[in-house]
Amino acid sequence: MKAVRIHQFGGPDVLQYEDIPGPQLRKDQVLVRVKACALNHLDLWVRKGLPGVNLPHILGSDIAGEIAEVGEYVTGFSTGQRVIVAPMHYCGHCTKCVAGLQNQCREFTVLGNGVDGGNCDLIAVPARNVIPIPESLDFVQAASVPLVFVTAWHMLVGLAGVRPGQTVLILGASSGVGIAAIQIAKMFHCRVITTAGNEEKLEKARALGADCGINHYKQKISEEVRKLTNKEGVDIVVEHVGAATWDESVRSLKTAGTLVTCGATTGPNVSIDVRHLFARQLRLLGSYMGTMGELREVLGHVFAGRLKPVVDRTFPLSEVRAAHEYLEKSQMFGKVVLTL
Ligand SMILES: [Zn+2]
Repeated sequence: MKAVRIHQFGGPDVLQYEDIPGPQLRKDQVLVRVKACALNHLDLWVRKGLPGVNLPHILGSDIAGEIAEVGEYVTGFSTGQRVIVAPMHYCGHCTKCVAGLQNQCREFTVLGNGVDGGNCDLIAVPARNVIPIPESLDFVQAASVPLVFVTAWHMLVGLAGVRPGQTVLILGASSGVGIAAIQIAKMFHCRVITTAGNEEKLEKARALGADCGINHYKQKISEEVRKLTNKEGVDIVVEHVGAATWDESVRSLKTAGTLVTCGATTGPNVSIDVRHLFARQLRLLGSYMGTMGELREVLGHVFAGRLKPVVDRTFPLSEVRAAHEYLEKSQMFGKVVLTL
């Protein structure tokens, strides 16, 4: 089969489009013919080098496709069925897994990170990871959903406990997590303030439901938030930008506000004044993906049309290098998706 593999870590030129043997299907697995695989920032981190990645390695977390073969022990699926693959790898039988907290499993990793992913024609996955999709979603739209929507849902609903009427600051409106978080917060009848690097992106964010937009290159985020909230600050900040915005995010919180973070695209080293942490009674929460239950829950809203995937553009799998270069330039609004 065709696959994109890395044999060493580095720039986009380490991505090799090549022929490799297809996967061996276990009896408890389903073989999926990949039709679309969305890119995430995680692909860039893995390509540049993360601990625990064995080489050669296949990238790609967000998979949509058709069932090509069903393992002997698997029931309830049939060949040709249109599906997505839950982008998580977990043991399925530890205390955390059986409690439904798969993202706390000691074996937990994201597909395409600690295990091979979907930048290839065929992938064999446990039947529990396979989720049928409705006709209303094409493969490209479906592939653009799982990772960012489960991440945003876990942050806002699972961890921050978002409630109707709250004010939420969402960093990076044009990112996958930003786009998902804006829609989820609006579904909970929150007031949404978001940030982006130009007016065109802010306009698209408003079209998704954002109430207020801040240009983070021209305006100081915390000052604008103070103006917009009658000096009070926001209830929740959805962070994934890291070093470049951290101080502004913390300053934007109201007393006893919650900052929840799932990433650090601009760098991992941030500082916190502990006096502010206790005196302002802030909550700082770390978030990593989400649970299988949360994925099912958020997918229900996507399948019903209440939450919408946003696709920026597609590239054929053979042009994966160009796709990575495009993602690194951060010019997109929405997901970049590889097609097969
Ligand atoms: Zn487990």
